[in-house]
Amino acid sequence: FEIVGAPIFNEANDLKGAVLVFHDITELKRLEQMRKDFVANVSHELKTPITSIRGFAETLLEDDMVNEEIRNQFLTIILTESERLQALVYDLLELSKLEKDELRLNYETIHINELLVGILTIVEQQAQKKQINFTTTIEEDSKIRADRDRLKQIFINLISNAINYTPVGGKVDLGVHITKDSIEIVVSDTGIGIPEEFKDRIFERFYRVDRARSRNTGGTGLGLAIVKHIVEAHRGSIKVESKVDKGTIFRVNLPKSFLD
Ligand code: ADP
Repeated sequence: FEIVGAPIFNEANDLKGAVLVFHDITELKRLEQMRKDFVANVSHELKTPITSIRGFAETLLEDDMVNEEIRNQFLTIILTESERLQALVYDLLELSKLEKDELRLNYETIHINELLVGILTIVEQQAQKKQINFTTTIEEDSKIRADRDRLKQIFINLISNAINYTPVGGKVDLGVHITKDSIEIVVSDTGIGIPEEFKDRIFERFYRVDRARSRNTGGTGLGLAIVKHIVEAHRGSIKVESKVDKGTIFRVNLPKSFLD
């Protein structure tokens, strides 16, 4: 609690009493702590690739004995780490835009099937690379009022995660179910699953169940935070069901249209 006090005097200037105001600042403190953690996390996430890029570049410049094979290895690391930085900066900007202009989405009428063509090309390639059996269960075409790029992001982030957290040879399915007023997107996988106690936390910025594994997949730790923001900005909902070592199902429900 934060307490602010002030004395009360009557007309003759005699002290009559006092007013005490109690402010519950638990929520403020929590928000302030979250902000501090976020800044610390961003700094850490940026520092790691920068240190590595710098180290490998310096070695290449200083050591002219480096052979062709090692040179290529170092350059590949520099490239991968630069890509990680780029993805991180892109996701950070996206998240900050969503937080600021949540209500300024670019609504258009979108045909789901047409939107999916581009998305499937991207994710099918990812799945193939990892020998994941990717299937779709799409009932029929439907129209939805939504922000095109943001809607795409929901599909791509959820399907990429499903591929990333499923071992080679596993299965990932995208389902799109249409009801009168809403569209349900279901992404299911036969992957590593999420322990019950982490199911709510995975939507927090930079929260990862297994830090090392997530870094190896090239994830920024912001994907689900972004998805949740987009879903809520469209007044939809997102739920997750999961069993460790069996698989995970993400369900997104979006209203087809509403007053902007
Ligand atoms: P990341 O870049 O780490 O994948 P996300 O925000 O997309 O960041 O996801 C947060 C965490 O949630 C991941 O690090 C992972 O631990 C967990 N996660 C997300 N999707 C899945 C999934 N399909 N199966 C298992 N774990 C998942």
